Parts: sequence; structure tokens; C-alpha cells
Amino acid sequence: MKESIVLFGPPGAGKGTQADLISELTGKPQVSTGDMLRNAVSKKSQLGIEAKKYMEAGLLVPDKIIIDLIKNRLDDEDSITGVLFDGFPRTIHQAEELEKITQVKVVISLVVPDEEIIERIVGRRMDPETGDIFHITFNPPPEEISHRLIQRKDDTKETVIQRLASYHEQTKPLGEWYEKLGKLISIEGNGTIEEVGKNITEAISHIG
Ligand code: ADP
Ligand code: ADP
Repeated sequence: MKESIVLFGPPGAGKGTQADLISELTGKPQVSTGDMLRNAVSKKSQLGIEAKKYMEAGLLVPDKIIIDLIKNRLDDEDSITGVLFDGFPRTIHQAEELEKITQVKVVISLVVPDEEIIERIVGRRMDPETGDIFHITFNPPPEEISHRLIQRKDDTKETVIQRLASYHEQTKPLGEWYEKLGKLISIEGNGTIEEVGKNITEAISHIG
């Protein structure tokens, strides 16, 4: 049976930043719906063209599109023993559909206040060659690669405010849903990247 881990939290909480560590600790490959969608957008596939409208407006992409994407991804051989979901599920409906195809062992929830989120997102930069994530102040890139870094189109203050609203309305209740199932582990996400990494490592050491 596939046993997966969900990395949960508001946009900009540090999910992508901490995903490598969790993958290393658990051996589960990272599956980021955000990365998959951006890939489809850059390829200008039918799915990408449809998803782009929602992403640029800071809205969630419809559940049907996301669920189909995940179903296909879970057919890949590397997901045989479960994966690390990053940014999925984001609605209760997505979580209910996920229950039908994989078993969620634990949900690691990164808790970060809204004020901090805005600062993190507006200063986020990505390396298109490696996918590495940086922050102009909190995690500055090495000098030699700084010229090639990009800022995501949806990482503006305006869009972040809408993304946070979508999070509070549609995604946060999912945290409570998982809590009722006894699967949620809340991690203080408002320290340095190293401190949050330590909190995660400690939590994972207890789940076996
Ligand atoms: P962040 O973690 O910074 O919010 P992501 O890279 O996870 O960003 O997602 C970027 C955008 O892609 C979201 O704002 C949303 O439009 C879309 N998206 C990603 N994952 C999902 C999902 N599970 N359900 C609906 N929309 C999604
Ligand atoms: P998410 O995947 O949850 O949207 P990211 O991992 O992309 O979040 O992080 C958002 C931004 O915040 C990035 O610029 C990243 O470098 C920065 N960041 C991540 N974790 C921390 C932290 N603990 N303290 C300060 N900045 C952080």
C-alpha cells in the first residue's frame, strides 16, 4: 500500500524549501502541484493554458484538473511506496479524492503568520536551471547565479493577498479536517530555515 506524507501550509510557508530535507529523511519523492502546473504553463499545453488564468489571479485551480494531474503522477514507478505531497491537497474535496488512491500517513503543517508570509513571497526568487528557491534577504543566492534568478509572476503583493484569502477560505479548513483524523503535526515555521528544518527532523523521528 502506498503511504504518503502531506506537507501543508499557507503559500510561502517554506514547503518547497523544506521538501528536500523531508524527501531525504523519508525516501519519498517530492510531488509539487505548483511545479507541475508551472511546467504545463511553460509548455503551453491545454492544461497549462487553462490553469494559468487561475494561477495569475491567485485563485486555486479547479479540483478536477488537479486530481487528474495527481492520478497520472501516482502511476509513475517512483511513487510506488508513496510520495511527499507539497502544496496538495488544498481543498477538502481534493483530500477526499486522495484517500481513494493513496494512504496519507501524516500531514506536516508549517505554521507561519500572514505578515511574515507576505514578506517571504515578495522576496522569493527561483533558479530556473535547478529549481532552487532563494530569498533576497532571508536566503540570499550565491553571487555567481544571482543574474539568472527569476521572480514568479504571481509573487506580487497584490496576488499574495488574494492567495492568502484563498488559503484561509478553502485550504485552512483542510488542516482542521486532518487534525480530526489525528494526522496533523503542527510545526513552528516562523524561525530560520535551519530552525524549521530541525523542528521537522525532530517530528519525523517520532513517526517511524
Ligand atoms: P505557493 O506554495 O507559493 O502558494 P504553489 O507553487 O504551490 O505556490 O502554487 C502556485 C499556484 O498553483 C497556486 O496559487 C494555485 O493557483 C495553483 N495550485 C497549486 N497547487 C494547487 C492545488 N493543489 N489546488 C489548486 N490549485 C493549486
Ligand atoms: P512555499 O513552498 O511554502 O510556497 P517556499 O519554500 O518557496 O514556500 O518559501 C517562500 C520564500 O520564503 C522563499 O523565498 C524562501 O527562501 C523563504 N523562506 C523559506 N523558509 C524560510 C524561513 N524559515 N525563514 C525565512 N524565509 C524563508
